[in-house]
Amino acid sequence: MTASILDGKSFAASIREKVAEHVARLKNEHGVTPGLAVVLVGEDPASQVYVRSKGKQTVEVGMASFEHKLAPDISEADLLDLITKLNADPEIHGILVQLPLPAHLNSDLVINSIDPAKDVDGFHISNVGLLGTGQKSMVPCTPLGCLMMLRDHHGSLSGLEAVVVGRSNIVGKPMAQLLLGESCTVTIAHSRTKDLAETCRRADILVAAVGRAEMIPGDWVKPGATVIDVGINRIERDGKRVLVGDVHFDSAAQVAGAITPVPGGVGPMTIACLLANTVTACCRANGLPEPDGLTV
Ligand code: NDP
Repeated sequence: MTASILDGKSFAASIREKVAEHVARLKNEHGVTPGLAVVLVGEDPASQVYVRSKGKQTVEVGMASFEHKLAPDISEADLLDLITKLNADPEIHGILVQLPLPAHLNSDLVINSIDPAKDVDGFHISNVGLLGTGQKSMVPCTPLGCLMMLRDHHGSLSGLEAVVVGRSNIVGKPMAQLLLGESCTVTIAHSRTKDLAETCRRADILVAAVGRAEMIPGDWVKPGATVIDVGINRIERDGKRVLVGDVHFDSAAQVAGAITPVPGGVGPMTIACLLANTVTACCRANGLPEPDGLTV
């Protein structure tokens, strides 16, 4: 293997440490405790795991955690009522509605009912517009984590050729916006891209956010490129359930300059960035300076 491993687990731990230090300062010097409300509708097992993990890490860094577990058949009006209350609650600085929502709920309507200043997932249409126009916004957690790792590894990204595979609203598109903001030359590829292999081979920075196990092999990777694998896919291998990314790690690691592993790469960064966004939101709400290194 030639690539260096971008260790998201330890990077995320260092972010949580910074968050915890800042939370302590907010409490001691300003009497403010950042609060994060997480809303879970229904009993999707994967969502339950994520929500538990978010709540646990929120408390570990000293913030207040408010969990709202709602019945799968809750009406849209009742859910919107809860969000209105959370929007008005001064103890809550961040609101996250765990996606996906059950089919009878309009996700866009629900997300856009969150106060944009408390939208720590960065999915509200106002935050999407602010990010797209290069203004201060709440940045979606997964792309924010990817960018932090890229900046840490490269320093300046200016002029680099970046290819993002995947155009979802939660990963691909905001990732591309952030890379454009760093003055990369950005290509967004997707399921209709004509020659995906050739497109990927152009990339100095290759971000895979597709959701297809190991679909990007090593011979799609430019020698020395930095590969950020966002994919989380559960597959069965040798009779065991294992997690793999969208990139074929073993072959890509022979060619890339640096690569994120799955698990232990982008995944841990996402919750760390959620905590970072909550601190940022709390500082903005209280007119206090934002901590260094927790946003872009
Ligand atoms: P979506 O399903 O919303 O989007 C997938 C994208 O991949 C689409 O734009 C789709 O193209 C594109 N795509 C699908 N098949 C191909 C193909 N054969 N060739 C090229 N492009 C293709 O997924 P998400 O963005 O939500 O998530 C992507 C992955 O990242 C998943 O594995 C998910 O689990 C993981 N993830 C990980 C997170 C983390 O914390 N690490 C957080 C969020 C997601 P088109 O638009 O044309 O259909």
